[in-house]
Amino acid sequence: MSELSKIRNIGITAHIDAGKTTTTERILYYTGVSHRIGEVHEGNTTTDYMEQERERGITITSAAVTCEWKEHRINIIDTPGHIDFNIEVNRSLRVLDGAIFIIEGVAGVQPQSETNWRLADRYNVPRIIFINKLDRTGADFYRAFDTLKEKLDIVALPLQLPIGIEDTFIGVVDLVEMKAIIWEGGELGAKFHDEEIPADLLERATEARQLLLDTALSVDNEAMEEYFEKGDVDVDTLKRCIKAGAISGVFRPVLCGTAFKNKGVQPLLDAVLDYLPAPDDREGIRVAAEEGHEDEDPKLRRLIKVDPKGNFSGLAFKIINDKYGTLTFVRVYSGSLKSGDQVMNTTKDHKERIGRMFQMHADKRAEIKEVQAGDIAAFVGLKDTSTGDTLASADDPVILERMAFPVPVIDIS
Ligand code: GDP
Repeated sequence: MSELSKIRNIGITAHIDAGKTTTTERILYYTGVSHRIGEVHEGNTTTDYMEQERERGITITSAAVTCEWKEHRINIIDTPGHIDFNIEVNRSLRVLDGAIFIIEGVAGVQPQSETNWRLADRYNVPRIIFINKLDRTGADFYRAFDTLKEKLDIVALPLQLPIGIEDTFIGVVDLVEMKAIIWEGGELGAKFHDEEIPADLLERATEARQLLLDTALSVDNEAMEEYFEKGDVDVDTLKRCIKAGAISGVFRPVLCGTAFKNKGVQPLLDAVLDYLPAPDDREGIRVAAEEGHEDEDPKLRRLIKVDPKGNFSGLAFKIINDKYGTLTFVRVYSGSLKSGDQVMNTTKDHKERIGRMFQMHADKRAEIKEVQAGDIAAFVGLKDTSTGDTLASADDPVILERMAFPVPVIDIS
């Protein structure tokens, strides 16, 4: 597996209160546990956990936080959920490769979700949907699911069905592997075990799995042929088809759970690896339009492929001032860069020297010596680089497509 295939640059987007912060916290908790597995003692005290949570709470507001799951690196780019932050949402959607779209299990798709959905459409961001809060009174997975079709007019495809609901919500039926996942333990329970699908859900699950097969396999002729020959396909083939469908947007995979009670978060992380694209699964980025050619079809412009061997190019997408000085968050599209290297700010046409470089983790900042295509990192020491500027090698001083500001008002009526 190449390095690039082990990176996911994702955003988490949600209507306010749908559970974005809670889900992000849980993701950081589980990825922290798996990352430092050797150091975690049995019976980790609540105080430890609270302390870590507190530190994470701060990191969550960072522009991009890096975590690890099953030997993959997941960069979570902050995408503000509130309507007032539309410009910010727009800015971050530009640099991520995929998104978790959270809706809540009681209200389903809410107006802000619709707005964010259309924005993500504009940048062709592949998405998986997480129906959260299934433990809440009044939660109804199927009703929330229906609002996806009604409000967003999309083909949504469940990959899981809930077992129980509200306070009887105990797990999910995994339709890809056709098994039940039942959670054990309390609030911080990271454990679950596999079981047979409950008898009362079997018919519904069989039907949903058939729909999943029919729709997912339709994007891949080879897989469809295999299915006609054998009457089924193996799990890896099905996953490959779901990923292809999710990336092309033919359908949107839907998972479910409750982040608050830690049910469903680990399978959600697995789904990020299985169904959201690695940087090189995406097309790449176009160079900016030349003056006077802004209306030209973007496809006519040069495409910069995500390639670690190419000349360096990256986009500054957020600037934060803190005790370390000015941190410039950069999404790298091609080539590589070491601390101390010189690059061009091609937007402003001047040179910049890279000082130190960091990746933000849940509880620390990790200094790194090199970044390459697909990465996201915070650079220190840039003198005059603003959000939206391109940094590029002097050997190929491209200017990358700019982020669109301001955001046009989107009519969602
Ligand atoms: P955000 O605005 O999308 O970031 O939402 P938060 O994560 O802050 O959640 C809003 C409120 O809903 C908080 O009080 C959370 O504790 C609560 N919450 C989040 N996820 C769940 C869930 O799965 N179940 C329940 N019952 N409450 C949740």
